[in-house]
Amino acid sequence: MADPDVRDLLAYLDASPSPYHAVATTADLLVAAGFTEVHEHDAWPTSGGRRFLRRGGSLVAWVDEGGRDAVRAGFRVVGAHTDSPNLRVKPRPDAGRAGWRQLGVEVYGGALLNSWLDRDLGLSGRVAVRRRGPDTGPASELRLVRVDRPVARVPQLAIHLDRGVNDGLTLNAQSHLSPVWGLGALDPGGFGRFLADELGVESHDVLAWDVMLHDLTPATLLGADRELLASARIDNLLSCWAATRALLGSLAPGGTGTGPDPVPVVGLFDHEEIGSESASGAASTLLATTLERIVHAAGGDRDGFHRALARSWCVSADGAHATHPNYAERHEPNHHIAVNGGPVIKRNANVRYATDADTEARFVSACERAGVPYQQFVVRTDLGCGSTIGPVTAARLGLATVDVGVAQLSMHSARELCGADDPTRFVAALAVALRT
Ligand code: ZN
Repeated sequence: MADPDVRDLLAYLDASPSPYHAVATTADLLVAAGFTEVHEHDAWPTSGGRRFLRRGGSLVAWVDEGGRDAVRAGFRVVGAHTDSPNLRVKPRPDAGRAGWRQLGVEVYGGALLNSWLDRDLGLSGRVAVRRRGPDTGPASELRLVRVDRPVARVPQLAIHLDRGVNDGLTLNAQSHLSPVWGLGALDPGGFGRFLADELGVESHDVLAWDVMLHDLTPATLLGADRELLASARIDNLLSCWAATRALLGSLAPGGTGTGPDPVPVVGLFDHEEIGSESASGAASTLLATTLERIVHAAGGDRDGFHRALARSWCVSADGAHATHPNYAERHEPNHHIAVNGGPVIKRNANVRYATDADTEARFVSACERAGVPYQQFVVRTDLGCGSTIGPVTAARLGLATVDVGVAQLSMHSARELCGADDPTRFVAALAVALRT
């Protein structure tokens, strides 16, 4: 398959303002490539095929057709996360002061709060709606909601009223981040009615929601020579896109050239930004049960599952820090990371990244076979290190794991920046990793 165009990534980013939308966008790409969805509550088909499943804001996809055999050749997993730090609407959000109508929000994950100021914001997520009909089955259903009109904004205080602001902006998450979304008296229930109107249901049928704010500025190429890419959610929808494109580019069997081929798996997990401990996060049962059921559906047993794991390895794909030109001293001087310098392999002696010499070498080989350059990152020794789903996945499943990603600036800003050449190189390297 030819390298996907970076414009495909821009469209993916814009189509996926919430983890639930990221899963839906990915599912559409998979279905278009002949994948079928399986459900965890059903018995799975025993014939091989191209499959995926969803659990909340997470998705796992795999291919076990065409001579692929997990027990004899293992799994090749690429993992990434669908969530990004943002502002999320509270259960009783209707608030207001001084003639303004406002929404109460919580901060999700480690957001750069200042980056949410003075942006025109839309809303997206999912809403639990009461089900009408017979008194059997679930009482509610989940519907995606997405409002791409500018409906909200977190207005910054004028400099005349905060003369010291340029010496250091202080934002209180409770007091200073409530977006305005209109004028008038306090309107209890107004947000629920707004969602009901958007979904075309009665307001008393809106039971609950997972709704968040998103910046409406579209993803774009940037720079005098358009070498850069600016968007919301580069961390980590770039990796979700790259993993999915790599899987779609690895459908033809014959990766190893000898014997059975491994089963390629892509796992996109919600809740990485808050530690992965949830029913659908990377610390959940999702990946383990999916891999075990793939083995069972192919006629294997529990022992076969463990044999498969022992032959497997995992690429944890997540954003990496490029060296910032205005803060170069914050970076490890012997591990300069360039935008458009190729995928970044991340190491940490205290295993905040799962990479070790063995898995690093495997990914280096994948880059060499794909013909793409690679870089090596460690954080300064006197700074704390971020983490990813890599150590979690490695610990839960005993999977040999490498942490890699695309270099970017402004990680956890509402709008991040990376190189325009790196994403397709990342796809090429991941495609090799999924096949060999
Ligand atoms: Zn991330």
